Amino acid sequence: MTHPFASSLPVLVIGAGPVGLLCALELARRQVPVTVLESEPGTTLDLRAGTFHPPTLEMLRPEGVADAMLAEGIRVRHWQARDREHGLIAEWDLDLLKHDTPYPFRLHLEQHRLTPILLKKLSVYPHAQVLFSHAFESLTQNGDEVEATALTPQGQVRLKGSYLVGADGGRSQVRKSAGIEFEGYTWPERYTVVSTSFDFEPLGYADNAYISDPEQWLAFFRMPDAGPPGLWRMTMPVTDELSDEQVLAPAYAHQAINRIIGAPAGSTYPVVHQSVYRVHQRVAAQFRLGRVLLAGDSAHVNNPLGGFGLNSGIHDAVNLGEKLAPVWHGQANTDLLDLYHRQRRTVAMEYVQNLSVKNKKNLEEKDLATRLARFEELRATVRDPEKARAYLLMSSMINSIHRANSIT
Ligand SMILES: Cc1cc2nc3c(=O)[nH]c(=O)nc-3n(C[C@H](O)[C@H](O)[C@H](O)COP(=O)(O)OP(=O)(O)OC[C@H]3O[C@@H](n4cnc5c(N)ncnc54)[C@H](O)[C@@H]3O)c2cc1C
Repeated sequence: MTHPFASSLPVLVIGAGPVGLLCALELARRQVPVTVLESEPGTTLDLRAGTFHPPTLEMLRPEGVADAMLAEGIRVRHWQARDREHGLIAEWDLDLLKHDTPYPFRLHLEQHRLTPILLKKLSVYPHAQVLFSHAFESLTQNGDEVEATALTPQGQVRLKGSYLVGADGGRSQVRKSAGIEFEGYTWPERYTVVSTSFDFEPLGYADNAYISDPEQWLAFFRMPDAGPPGLWRMTMPVTDELSDEQVLAPAYAHQAINRIIGAPAGSTYPVVHQSVYRVHQRVAAQFRLGRVLLAGDSAHVNNPLGGFGLNSGIHDAVNLGEKLAPVWHGQANTDLLDLYHRQRRTVAMEYVQNLSVKNKKNLEEKDLATRLARFEELRATVRDPEKARAYLLMSSMINSIHRANSIT
């Protein structure tokens, strides 16, 4: 029997990034019609996130998304805590999680290689459509439906939906149009990303390493790129004395690598990509406002230390899909959508914001005694398998999923 709340209008999803496409797939596979609007003419190619934690891979298992990613990505079993001056401090072995997850490793895969996988899986469903070159502009809603306006090359269009999911990134026009506050702050320093084919493995670097330094910390990720041996991606902060232009000059990347490996000034390296960007710690005041829901970067942004941004966005998409589908079918009350807000916003605050800020503070700690005490603590933790497992349950986001599920 159909519930009186059952809807016939599609769910509108704004943004064909990883979170929007996954949310659409989660709805489509539960027989909910869905229309995705994306401002760009295709899925975007810029280099962003690229590390996937075990629970994220578990969530991507249906529809074979995780398998498709595993076929292309690098499995990272070990990751390191290092210090620029003191070298290797601790090496974590994710295999300690083998009884906690079928994926006891991190998977490195460029974000722009996940979106085509999701798009292909979505294309199987006739009740799902993706409209590129449709830039969402504004929305109105009432008790029964949502109406969105979007700008297309042919002019403005209006679309009606049962619900609207804003998955349109950190600058979310959906969030602005709904009047939802984005509470938090922006860090004063910018971050730069450098990708190089110079191989750090012979120097003892694991495929993922975080290097503390009071002057300039570093995060290392070996990424698959076009295939073995892949590229090494380094993220580091830059001070305001340098312009974007100076930071994006090849000389800056060469100096950064020289400093890491202690090579003479003037040595050069093959640099494949450089970018610079601002970093924020912000969480939307509400993840639900009537028929409007926020997910991914439109709902929360954080620094990249720990690799929580995209992972938590994927956790949002799956959590929301699970709840919005029965609501759409009239099998559950709309209160279920408030549970989405409570579960995912709590975790965004308690876990993603707290831990990413803590990771940053640890890496940039200036006080030597505090740094040395932290190194001792890390060494002691890694030596004790039970303590190491507890640490990895936290850093791999498994605890964040348990925490979200504990909220009713
Ligand atoms: C420069 C940069 C570097 C990053 N680096 C890292 C990193 O190293 N590690 C890490 O963990 N995370 C990183 N992140 C964060 C990570 O990329 C995000 O968490 C992730 O992209 C979130 O996915 P999303 O789908 O929510 O948003 P997005 O990937 O931003 O996707 C949003 C989509 O919405 C579309 N869109 C925007 N506005 C509209 C509109 N008005 N109408 C229709 N469509 C619209 C966009 O074109 C885009 O396709 C980085 C982010 C940025 C911006």
